[in-house]
Amino acid sequence: MRFDQFGALQAFIPATILDSQIPEAILSVCPFSEGAANEDEIGRALYPEGKQDSHVGFHLECYLGHVAEGDFRARGSSGGIGSWVLSELFRLGLIDKAIHVGERQPTQGDPRLFAFAVSNSMEEIRAKSKSRYYPIEMSEVLRFVRETPGRYAIVGVPCFIKAIRLLARQEAIFAERIQFHISIFCGHLKTAGFSEFLAWQSGVLPDEIRTVDFRKKVPNQPAHSYAFEVEGKIKGRSVKKCNSMRDLYGTDWGLGLFKYKACDFCDDVVGETADISVGDAWLPGFVGDWRGSNAIVVRDPRLRVIVAEGIASKRIELQAVEAAQIAKSQEGGFRHRRDGLSYRLFLSDKAHQWRPSKRVMPKAWRDDSRFREIHDLRMALAKVSHQYWKVAKDTKKLSVFTAGISRLKRRYERYYAPTGWKRAFVFGINAIMEVLLPWKARLRRMSKNSK
Ligand SMILES: Cc1cc2nc3c(=O)[nH]c(=O)nc-3n(C[C@H](O)[C@H](O)[C@H](O)COP(=O)(O)OP(=O)(O)OC[C@H]3O[C@@H](n4cnc5c(N)ncnc54)[C@H](O)[C@@H]3O)c2cc1C
Ligand code: SF4
Repeated sequence: MRFDQFGALQAFIPATILDSQIPEAILSVCPFSEGAANEDEIGRALYPEGKQDSHVGFHLECYLGHVAEGDFRARGSSGGIGSWVLSELFRLGLIDKAIHVGERQPTQGDPRLFAFAVSNSMEEIRAKSKSRYYPIEMSEVLRFVRETPGRYAIVGVPCFIKAIRLLARQEAIFAERIQFHISIFCGHLKTAGFSEFLAWQSGVLPDEIRTVDFRKKVPNQPAHSYAFEVEGKIKGRSVKKCNSMRDLYGTDWGLGLFKYKACDFCDDVVGETADISVGDAWLPGFVGDWRGSNAIVVRDPRLRVIVAEGIASKRIELQAVEAAQIAKSQEGGFRHRRDGLSYRLFLSDKAHQWRPSKRVMPKAWRDDSRFREIHDLRMALAKVSHQYWKVAKDTKKLSVFTAGISRLKRRYERYYAPTGWKRAFVFGINAIMEVLLPWKARLRRMSKNSK
């Protein structure tokens, strides 16, 4: 696995090996390969007691809420349940080690800011909380699992958990050792360009980043109004800069900037092959609480007991909900990855391009030109964002990127712009804000940073 020219980690196959020489056993571990079982098949085999739902997969229980004990919630991206579950498995003696993503010190030869690592204590587990919208890969930790006996839990995005399930079908040692699988919901994965772009806007150049926090909670703001914090150097001086995501350019997830291409061919939003899945409760009644809240899907009976005991002892505060509520908390994600996917599959087939087999059927969306244009623009924006980012870095000019994507971005945003009296209202508010807020200073700072 290594970084490609656009900052995505990719599997590289030596040129001496032909595609036809790659053993079937290896191909069938890839979550996108033709030979792989799909999420329904894997889920049905793993969780025969579960109810099936077309959005969250086989499941026993669904919840909304957060951790009440300790500082899990304060340290976590959402309600802290992700780290709490790992910690609880450790406390109960059900695992010896946890595999998840933590910070690393970038070096000259290896610039990665984050990587999968092994935690051996509850303190190490808590130190790796928070979401890393950053390229990661599992080769080192899987080698470690193969070589080191023990009982493990692993945290990953849905396609990584599916890959582990497929690997366990090939090599029994992984089925024996990895005993718990925790998935975080996933909108899409970003290349390293995303963190570099946000840091650069804050004044820290890509090579000067020490670390970033993508999900800094902002007191008394809605949970989705989080901030981005970067630690690094500006002109040799150590700095820590924090900016609201709203004030940074290109942070709307719908734009899909810096998105991996594979993510446009993925239909699993919550991690249907995991024992438990955790995401953000993007729902009225939860989103207003800046401290963060989780949406949770429980599939494994052992975790059902652990969660129920946590609720009974008031260490976690959760309310049981139907699967439909979980799906509602991820409405945009499901629209993009089910309806949007059906259109992207149609386009691939029309162009006679290879694409993975999916549970979603191709659809032309002939009667909905708005829908088609939005999804065309998303694909185009993701593609050009990689290209312009490379040029911006090569030329050391941030403005190359912002100017390069601006035409498509404006066209995309027009589809979400308010109309009629709403447009007049928003225009008025913006005019007032322009007078009250130092926008010009902010823009000046951005263009200064870009030089
Ligand atoms: C790329 C990405 C996309 C996401 N998209 C969505 C989305 O569309 N909708 C949504 O509701 N939630 C999404 N999430 C999940 C969300 O950001 C939170 O991670 C989740 O709600 C858990 O929060 P928590 O407070 O319970 O966990 P925490 O206590 O903060 O623990 C998070 C755990 O996840 C691990 N982790 C962090 N980053 C990664 C990574 N890249 N790969 C594997 N493990 C990692 C950490 O090591 C830690 O163990 C996404 C997360 C990532 C990394
Ligand atoms: S969107 Fe799908 S393919 Fe992309 S990282 Fe998330 S789970 Fe993997």
